Amino acid sequence: MRQSQLFAPTLRETPAEAEIVSHRLMLRAGLVRQASAGIYSWLPLGKRVLAKIERIVREEQNAAGAQEILMPTIQSADLWRKSGRYDAYGAEMLRIRDRQDRDLLYGPTNEEQVTEIFRNGVASYRDLPLNLYHIQWKFRDEIRPRFGVMRGREFLMKDAYSFDLGYAGARVAYNKMFIAYLKTFSRMGLQAIPMAADTGPIGGDLSHEFIVLADTGESAVFCHADYLDRDPRAETPETAEALQAAVDSWTALYAATDEKHDAWPDAVAADKRLSARGIEVGHIFYFGTKYADPMDAAVQTSDGGRTTVHMGSYGIGVSRLVGAVIEAHHDDAGCVWPIPVAPFDAHILNLRPGDAAVDGVCASLYDQLKTAGLDPLLDDRGERAGAKFADADLIGLPWRATVGPKSAAEGKVELRTRADAATETLGVEAAVDRIRAAWVAA
Ligand code: ATP
Ligand code: MG
Repeated sequence: MRQSQLFAPTLRETPAEAEIVSHRLMLRAGLVRQASAGIYSWLPLGKRVLAKIERIVREEQNAAGAQEILMPTIQSADLWRKSGRYDAYGAEMLRIRDRQDRDLLYGPTNEEQVTEIFRNGVASYRDLPLNLYHIQWKFRDEIRPRFGVMRGREFLMKDAYSFDLGYAGARVAYNKMFIAYLKTFSRMGLQAIPMAADTGPIGGDLSHEFIVLADTGESAVFCHADYLDRDPRAETPETAEALQAAVDSWTALYAATDEKHDAWPDAVAADKRLSARGIEVGHIFYFGTKYADPMDAAVQTSDGGRTTVHMGSYGIGVSRLVGAVIEAHHDDAGCVWPIPVAPFDAHILNLRPGDAAVDGVCASLYDQLKTAGLDPLLDDRGERAGAKFADADLIGLPWRATVGPKSAAEGKVELRTRADAATETLGVEAAVDRIRAAWVAA
């Protein structure tokens, strides 16, 4: 896309209301604009990142055997009365009344809705196991919305719900999500640490939060330093036993949020004790028959009996992740997007729009990147070089290819990585190869 056509209202000044770097950069680089407290509009650059994060989440959910559905944002209060949560949920729930005087609510989560779908659609043990997920906006009237999209009131969540015959099956479903979560976050350039968690209002007895370390995180965390060098991408457990072993190996090292942490266990050597702050990007629960019981979600068993299904629920903060990735990947000049979630793949800076040679090299690079399946952004604006460099750093695409009269005369571009500013002068084809190779590898 040509930057002259892109709607990306960048800000030179640091917005005063933004307390943390991801919020500042999302406003400055024109990713989002606040609509009202905790509610945001997503502008083209932000929407692109959100879509890429969504896609990674979707791919990993599908790979783990979950099926995508889409449930509504507005739910009936009666469903929540059945589970007993309508009154229990409290002031975070946005309650609405329609013209027929029926009580509705804007869903803060979907256990009730999905259990109802399950109850109406599944009758036999033969239809299990089942895992249904959706990626949908939620509303929680948070008492203190802050930090931009990190703690919004309206936010995008992936939530999955598993249905199984008993504990053993439900544990397999839980373990699959556990491993899928580690892979999901790692593909976005995030090292997420699984931490045993309290189950809170969702209830149940097995739960992990996935936490990304960042100084501005809301949770205080205590974990074994070796978590920082573990790569989940190699995990491909096939059997239930292998899955359990993989999860056990990821939970063997100590990790706890402040709610659970009392004192360091002796097993963690003094030089391995990492206390830090973190951002919760995902949370998984096994809660047995907590919802299936009151909502009568049961199936016929092989011997003709009936049994209540065991459930789990699995959330990922999709919109929060945009902020979390920035918290983990930025510098003083702006965002430093990991390749898989960058809003565009490469930034071509035309330093002399209107100069035939410069325009020609830029067009050639642009076209060849497109042909290679990449999505470049071409800065064809009539701005000063300094302003272009500053905007390119702020937006933070993984590659910057600069073309001025000198390089164009030789048919070359100056190619530079955003992450470590490694710079080379290359011909157009070599530059395309370089960018494409890195993109494929990521
Ligand atoms: P938190 O402890 O941060 O309030 P939660 O435990 O209430 O989160 P869950 O119900 O487990 O959250 O929701 C699943 C995921 O949705 C969380 O792990 C988080 O990443 C994301 N999330 C929750 N609340 C918000 C919010 N207000 N704004 C943005 N993302 C959120
Ligand atoms: Mg939580």
